[in-house]
Formats: sequence, structure tokens, C-alpha cells
Amino acid sequence: MRRKRPKGRSFRVKVSGTCEQTGKVSYPSEIDAKLAIANIRFSGKRGFDKSEGRCYVCPACHKWHTTSKGVRAKAPEA
Ligand SMILES: [Zn+2]
Repeated sequence: MRRKRPKGRSFRVKVSGTCEQTGKVSYPSEIDAKLAIANIRFSGKRGFDKSEGRCYVCPACHKWHTTSKGVRAKAPEA
């Protein structure tokens, strides 16, 4: 019998490859992208609050990617 979930509180996520445009991991569906985000949260990384970790459909490959707002745009220094 298979366990529903592996012990380490992580979900099994389908990955459909890597996006050539963004270099990000692509997921076949929104569910998979969200599970991937959940895995990051469960992994206990600090500084990962619930406002981080979104998923979106990539206009280039039409698959799902995850993003986190931890990636800040640098303010241009004069
Ligand atoms: Zn893409």
C-alpha cells in the first residue's frame, strides 16, 4: 500500500520541465504549482510568509510557474 503522503510533510508535485524563457521550473497545472509552494513552506524556510509564493501562467510556455515576492526589484541608484 502506498502512503498518501511521504513522511516529510511534502507533497508530490508534477513538474513538466523547465521554461526556456524564464529558466523556471514549469508545472502542468495550478494545483501542482500550489503544491510546490506548499512544499517550500513546509520545508520551514525562514522569511517565507504567506504573502509570498504565488503561481501564474507563463505567457511564453503556457505552463505554471511559481514566484515569490522575495525577489525585489532593485531601486536604481542615482
Ligand atoms: Zn514559462
